[in-house]
Amino acid sequence: MNNAIKATISFIKEQYKTENFIPLHVPHFGGNEKKYLLETIDSTFVSSVGAYVDQFEVMMQNITNTQRAVAVVNGTAAIQVALRLIGVKAGDEVLTQALTFVATANAIAYQNATPVFLDVDLDTMGLSPNSVAVFLEEFGDLREDGCYNKKTGKKISACLPMHTFGFPVHLDELIEVCDKWKIPVLEDAAESLGSEYKGKSTGSFGKLGAFSFNGNKIVTCGGGGAIVTNDLKLGEKGKYLTTTAKIPHPYEYVHDEMGYNFRMPNLNAALACAQLEQLDNFLENKRTLAKQYESFFASNGVKFRTETPNTKANYWLMCVELENKSDRDLFLKVTNDNNVMTRPIWQLMYRLPMYSNCQRDKQLNAEFLEERIVNIPSSVR
Ligand SMILES: *Cc1c(COP(=O)(O)O)cnc(C)c1O
Repeated sequence: MNNAIKATISFIKEQYKTENFIPLHVPHFGGNEKKYLLETIDSTFVSSVGAYVDQFEVMMQNITNTQRAVAVVNGTAAIQVALRLIGVKAGDEVLTQALTFVATANAIAYQNATPVFLDVDLDTMGLSPNSVAVFLEEFGDLREDGCYNKKTGKKISACLPMHTFGFPVHLDELIEVCDKWKIPVLEDAAESLGSEYKGKSTGSFGKLGAFSFNGNKIVTCGGGGAIVTNDLKLGEKGKYLTTTAKIPHPYEYVHDEMGYNFRMPNLNAALACAQLEQLDNFLENKRTLAKQYESFFASNGVKFRTETPNTKANYWLMCVELENKSDRDLFLKVTNDNNVMTRPIWQLMYRLPMYSNCQRDKQLNAEFLEERIVNIPSSVR
């Protein structure tokens, strides 16, 4: 094991051509970032309206091939508002995975709803259609107005799968199960910009999709998010809710619902547009690195995670699967001690105090992956 780790450290240092600290993921500013930012400052439109916000929304519609994209302040807010748009109300339940970044569960809690944690698939590391089906067979109660949980009596008003590290979940199967039980799907596509399932963009399969442009994501605008949908009415409602629910009027303030100030500032949108112009290059660059990792790890007996059939991963954060927890711990220690940043996958959500009492299934796959998956440096070179 130790030799494989040493070889890994040398290999990663060669890839990034440095002996200095190698982070997990840093932004790459190789395009029009400075130009667009300066233009924005010169125009004085730095805040919540401006040409780049509109341009960003059109670019996201084109990239995801959806009818409407709405720019918002961050990915968490995108999920929160999308949950409201999809019909999640206080006291409802949302089916999701425990193996995710905390924002997925937090967004549900902000809607005063409760997550129900179901297991992931071993191949995708995302919500398993089978665990959803098994759970609903036992607890689902299909009524006129939707699906209820037999155990709690609460309405299950959405299903929120997350495409872990940019590897798409089994979308067709998941949507089939959810349709059968009248549960609308919202994709947490925060990590999967540029990933495809059967040739179509992740985020475009559910009723709504949510993306993040945080500093550590494949494309960043400092901080930002987007909601996408093919339902124009929902899209317009999303724009309206995230811009304080204001009724258009030449000078009066008229608000007829509790909205949010979740706008993306034009400064951030300028950065986002410059970054999105480079998305195809980033995807290609990462794919090349993934191929190099794949053949390196294959010859060292370490399992490097690759995309599943019928999908194209964006390889946002690349990862290896170690044999067991003690191998994982050794790998983490030695790499980090040698200037190569690596990080374990997240702790499962029900280990966190605020989500420890949520209903969940057996989580065999999630717990297996929790002990073995480690992210390795994945930045664009
Ligand atoms: C990054 C991320 C988010 C949240 O995005 P922010 O823009 O940081 O709010 C949500 N879900 C997942 C799975 C993420 O990785």
